[in-house]
Amino acid sequence: MAKNNGKCSAVVLAAGKGSRMKSDVQKQFLLLKEKPVLYYSLRCFEDSPLIDEIVLVTEKGMEEYCRESIVERYGFRKVSAIVAGGKERYDSVYAGLKACREPDYVFIHDSARPFVTREILERNMEDVRKSGACVTAVPMKDTVKLADPDGFVQETIPRERLWIIQTPQVFRYDLILRAYEECMAEGMEGITDDAMAAERSGRAKVLFSMGSYQNIKITTPEDLLIAELFLKEQ
Ligand code: C5P
Repeated sequence: MAKNNGKCSAVVLAAGKGSRMKSDVQKQFLLLKEKPVLYYSLRCFEDSPLIDEIVLVTEKGMEEYCRESIVERYGFRKVSAIVAGGKERYDSVYAGLKACREPDYVFIHDSARPFVTREILERNMEDVRKSGACVTAVPMKDTVKLADPDGFVQETIPRERLWIIQTPQVFRYDLILRAYEECMAEGMEGITDDAMAAERSGRAKVLFSMGSYQNIKITTPEDLLIAELFLKEQ
């Protein structure tokens, strides 16, 4: 895709503790085929011609480690800032957004998803240009039912309308920065992803952007086994 899209930043989030992984090492630093999980998404953004800069958000105190052991070691030249995240994911996103150098668009990505691809970024770019806001997602494969308070099925949700949300979530930068500023001032209760901040602010309708079933989030130890299989296949 030709680079005539305006300036694009990527905020790569790696400030989570990942307690569900039951490991002393945070999941973004666990090794997959001898490279840290975080390496793979940084590599994708570094290699995509759409992306001009990468802001890496890491746990406070890990900035130097990330600079030496990841950014310099693997030669990621697009990383313009390494900033400390916060207690919750949204604190980390907000810290990352503030460190961007006024791009037109921003890709917000969980480093725990190492299988993001160049094709996904290209589809995201097309979609965000249409609407100002898009979320990577895949159609739901399973049947989903809503429970009533007594544990009985209340309703079966039509599957054709259900999507599983992934990252990147991509926005016009001014829109998402303002949406975050408003939500942070009003309180982030109930906001579980970036798209919800954009939706609540009423500034844009969020478009679904086709992701991939391989774009999994590494959360529990089984996910690492699946990730190793995917890498073997590549
Ligand atoms: O914990 P969970 O898997 O939902 O985290 C999703 C992503 O957000 C991970 O890449 C994690 O590093 C990041 N995160 C963060 N700051 C937090 C919590 C999570 O950067 N406070």
